[in-house]
Amino acid sequence: MDAEQFREFGKAAVDYIADYFETIRDRPVLSNVQPGYLGDLLPKDPPQNGESWRDVLQDVDRIIMPGITHWHSPHFHAYYPTAHSFPAVVGELMSAGFGVVGLSWIASPAMTELEVVMMNWLGRMLGLPEEFLNCSEGPGGGVIQGSASEATYVGLLTAKEKKVKDLMEEDKNLTEAEIKGKLIAYSSDQSNSSVEKAGLLGSMVMRLLPTNKEGQLTGETLQEAINKDKAAGLIPCYVVANLGTTPTCAFDNLEELGPICKKENVWLHVDAAYAGTAFVCPEYRHLMKGVEMSDSFNFNPHKWMLVNFDCSAMWIRDAKYLVEAFNVERIYLKDQHKGLAPEYRHWQIALGRRFRALKIWFVLRIYGVEGIQKHVRNQIGLAKYLEDLVKKDSRFESCSCSMGLVTFRLKGDDSLSKKLLQKISDRKNVFLIAGHLNGKFVIRYAVCSRLTEKRDVDFSWKEITEAAEEIVPSKIS
Ligand code: PLP
Repeated sequence: MDAEQFREFGKAAVDYIADYFETIRDRPVLSNVQPGYLGDLLPKDPPQNGESWRDVLQDVDRIIMPGITHWHSPHFHAYYPTAHSFPAVVGELMSAGFGVVGLSWIASPAMTELEVVMMNWLGRMLGLPEEFLNCSEGPGGGVIQGSASEATYVGLLTAKEKKVKDLMEEDKNLTEAEIKGKLIAYSSDQSNSSVEKAGLLGSMVMRLLPTNKEGQLTGETLQEAINKDKAAGLIPCYVVANLGTTPTCAFDNLEELGPICKKENVWLHVDAAYAGTAFVCPEYRHLMKGVEMSDSFNFNPHKWMLVNFDCSAMWIRDAKYLVEAFNVERIYLKDQHKGLAPEYRHWQIALGRRFRALKIWFVLRIYGVEGIQKHVRNQIGLAKYLEDLVKKDSRFESCSCSMGLVTFRLKGDDSLSKKLLQKISDRKNVFLIAGHLNGKFVIRYAVCSRLTEKRDVDFSWKEITEAAEEIVPSKIS
C-alpha cells in the first residue's frame, strides 16, 4: 500500500468511525451473534494475493460490526467507562503512524519528554502532592503504564524489593528467600480482581480484608491484620487502598490507612483507577486526603478522562525504588543521556513502550481542564438523576450512589433482582451488570458513554421498569 492508497483508506476509515458514532444511539448495545459466528464467515486460510482496502472495509461492516458490543453507546452501563474521544483516537492514529518505540530517551526524545510533561500536567490537574511529580526537586515521578493492573503489580514488585533490601541491611544474616517467603500484602474484599492477581503474580499472599458497611477498609481492620501476621512471624509489605472500588465506588480513608503504613514501614499504593479523574474537580479532592502518605498512586485516564485505552497514570513518591527494582542494563540499550531524563524502560515490565502521551496531550489541549471537569460533573449529575428515579419507585431499593455509579435492587429476595437483570440483558437494549453489596445481589448502573444524556437515562429506566413489570407489577406493589 502506498501513501496515496493510505490516504484514501485512512480517510474512508475515519468516515466510517464518524458515521458509527452518529448512529450509535440507535443500535442495540449487545450483539446478537453466537460463539463461533466469525469462524464461519472467514476463509480457513489467509489470501494468497493482496486484496483491495475497499473489500476489507466492507467486511468490517459485514463481519466485525455485528459482533461489536457498543461500549460507547449512551445505553452502555456495565463495568466502568472506558474512555473515548475523537482527539484521543487521532492521538492513537498518529502514535501508530509514527510507529516509534520509546525504550530509551534517544529512541524518540519527544516521546519521553512529552510523557514527563503530561504526567506533570495530570498530577497538577488532580492536585497531587508536588513531590510525586517529575518536575519536583525530589525523587518522585510519573509514568504511563498500560493498565491499573500493571501499576498495582509494579507497585507490589517495588515494595517487595525495597522490603528485602531494608531487612537485609538491618540484619546481614537474613537471606532473600527467607524474607520473600514471609511477605504479606493487604487490600479489601472490595478491591478489583487485578489486586488479587498482583499478589498471585508477585508470589505474595494478598489478604482481602473485610470492609465496613460503606465498603471501606478501616484502619482498625488493617492494624488488626498486621498485628496478627507479625505475631505469626510474617512480614507486612504492601497495602493497596482503593479510591473508588469497582463494586460501589467506595473510598478508603487514607488519613486512617496512611499512618499505619508509615508506622509499619509498609508500601501504600492507591488504586484510583476510575474515580481518580474526579479529583480534577476540587470539590471531590477531600476524598483523597492523606494521599501524601502513599508511596504510589494510580488512576486511569482511559476510564473517565476521555483518553482511549490504554493509558494508566502512575506516580511514585521515590522513583529510585522502582528503578532499582526494575533496572536490567544491556550495552545495546545504553545512551549517553543517562540521568538527564527518565529511562522509562526501568519503570515498567516491558522493554518497548507506546507513544501514549500524544493522546493525553491532544485530549487536554482540545477539551481543556474545564472540558474534563464539565464531563465529570455531568456524568455524576446523571447518576444522581437515575438514583432519584429508583428512589421514587417503591418496588426498588437504592443501595449506593457514588460518582457516576448507582447500585440498586428489587426489594425482597435476591432471586427477583437476578431475574430482573436477566430480563434486561435479554432485551439487549441496555447493558448492566451484577454486583454484591453487604451480602446482597445488586444491579450496577454506571454512566459510561460521554454521549449519555438525561433522555438516555430515561430510556434505560424505561427498559428497567418494563422488565420489572414482568416480575413485580407496579399495580400490586
Ligand atoms: N482498579 C479498579 C478500582 C477498577 O475498577 C479496575 C477496572 O475496572 C481496575 C483496577 C483494573 O483496571 P485496568 O483494566 O486498567 O487494569
